[in-house]
Amino acid sequence: MDESRLRGVLRNNIDTIEERIRAACARAGRSRSDVTLVAVTKSAPDEAVCLLPELGLNHLGENRPQQLWRKAALLPSTVHWHLIGHLQRNKIEQTLPLVELIHSGDRLSLLDSLEVAAQKQGQRIDVLVEVNTSGEASKNGFAPAEVPGLSDVFNSLLFVRLGGLMTMAALVEDAEKCRPSFALLRDLRDRLTRTLTDQHVLHHLSMGMSNDFEVAIEEGATLVRIGTALFAGLAE
Ligand SMILES: *Cc1c(COP(=O)(O)O)cnc(C)c1O
Repeated sequence: MDESRLRGVLRNNIDTIEERIRAACARAGRSRSDVTLVAVTKSAPDEAVCLLPELGLNHLGENRPQQLWRKAALLPSTVHWHLIGHLQRNKIEQTLPLVELIHSGDRLSLLDSLEVAAQKQGQRIDVLVEVNTSGEASKNGFAPAEVPGLSDVFNSLLFVRLGGLMTMAALVEDAEKCRPSFALLRDLRDRLTRTLTDQHVLHHLSMGMSNDFEVAIEEGATLVRIGTALFAGLAE
């Protein structure tokens, strides 16, 4: 596909997604500016990813650290990178300077390692706690019942700032079925907020993907992570 057709397909997809985000915000009585679209680039060709900033998308998400490193080098430094997948300890050092937010704070040992690495690099790092709201064994993250107990952990960290919670709902055809997952995440966020020091401002709920982002926005999502819907039609 030549560049102008590629640009056209992306423009169309972005317009459609934007319209759906606006409609969901309107239904929920929320402002469009409360929701950030994070373009998930894991399945997209580099030519398409490189066009995103000029099409107005400056928040990009990758779930593999090595792919994030590689793509960050291809794109302007004005891009805000989000790591949305599992982060192994030996990848922390190289990842920290590149990312604005780590959505996948999925285990205690990672929080400890991030604290050590961030201190060493002399920078704060913003992290979301990933919660397994669907209870599926294949999903990473803390069980909902573990979340209230995390306030002690976070209140003892100096370089890691908790910015909110993240979840992946079950992959189902009917997005309505994801609503309880999203409502649970919001409820956990609201409860955790009350037990944390001022260092941690739990502004974010990272929830909603191509299949279910409208329901997530209705339930309070501030970050929606969208891949498939954004890059649809590129192979034709
Ligand atoms: C791939 C991925 C997404 C995007 O999913 P789509 O269904 O392609 O929109 C969002 N979040 C995470 C954690 C992912 O791995």
